[in-house]
Amino acid sequence: VVEALPSILTGVDAEAVRLVQKGLKERGAEVIVGAKAMEAGRKGKVLTVKVEVDGKERVLECDKVLVAVGFRPNTEGLGLDQVGVRLSPKGFVEVDERYQTSAPGIHAIGDLTGPPFLAHKASKEGEIAAEVIAGRKSARDWVAMPGAIFTEPEVGTVGMSEDEARKAGYEPLVGKFYFSALGRAVAIDHTDGFVKVVGDKASKQLLGVTIAGPEASDLIAEAALALEMGANLEDVALTVHAHPTLPEAFMEACKAALGEAIHRLNRPERPPRSPAPA
Ligand SMILES: Cc1cc2nc3c(=O)[nH]c(=O)nc-3n(C[C@H](O)[C@H](O)[C@H](O)COP(=O)(O)OP(=O)(O)OC[C@H]3O[C@@H](n4cnc5c(N)ncnc54)[C@H](O)[C@@H]3O)c2cc1C
Repeated sequence: VVEALPSILTGVDAEAVRLVQKGLKERGAEVIVGAKAMEAGRKGKVLTVKVEVDGKERVLECDKVLVAVGFRPNTEGLGLDQVGVRLSPKGFVEVDERYQTSAPGIHAIGDLTGPPFLAHKASKEGEIAAEVIAGRKSARDWVAMPGAIFTEPEVGTVGMSEDEARKAGYEPLVGKFYFSALGRAVAIDHTDGFVKVVGDKASKQLLGVTIAGPEASDLIAEAALALEMGANLEDVALTVHAHPTLPEAFMEACKAALGEAIHRLNRPERPPRSPAPA
């Protein structure tokens, strides 16, 4: 995996990224960060990729090359300017919270309107735009958009990271629970990973959740529901979760944030280490 930035999965919790990198390494992959792919070629039966790392050239040999960069909106040549549809400097269609463009009667949704580039975001926006077109009083009002990364282990995110919470003016309260201390994770022999919750220290409102580990893409749904319903850390901590199940880790992380953990030591979380080492 050749990545130009200092870390893969930019914007994801550094500890979750380290876990994904560890999984890749265990399965024989090499992750090279801060590296620029310069050109691909062929040497006999193998493919080659010329990479620049720290100003030095390196040639990687491989069976297949997958180019996963170069994403851009396909708005050119449609004559959007002729009908008055305004584009952002990066070429995305600008819309309001009703997915109305600057041209009355023309709506836009999905990737074309900018990040995050997610299927469920595009789908939700499509519903709202259709309702607006049908004359309903509908508009974008979700609290947080969940994301799932189907790596091994999986990563699920929703709401703010610790950093984002701080930037938004909150004093973050962080709680973490490791799957290694969870009965179900031990039973299924998948103990790598954790649930990390971020709350607001003053109000105890839940602000964001990162899950790295078994079934993270499924587990994040409960966190999305909690955020959407305006739950605070106590709401989740006081919700009885069936045992032994993976979602118990979310409850335990909220308890840990409140200093009320009973299946791990109660101590403040250490600040996150970053950037993630390759
Ligand atoms: C490899 C890959 C994996 C992904 N995995 C996930 C995932 O696991 N989870 C997730 O949430 N998201 C995932 N995504 C992102 C997700 O696919 C997109 O966010 C989503 O499809 C956006 O929906 P959309 O309707 O905006 O655009 P699209 O699904 O791209 O639909 C746009 C359609 O418009 C058509 N079109 C383009 N130009 C024109 C034109 N001029 N006239 C007529 N038709 C046109 C295109 O052919 C296309 O069919 C993934 C994307 C990729 C590329």
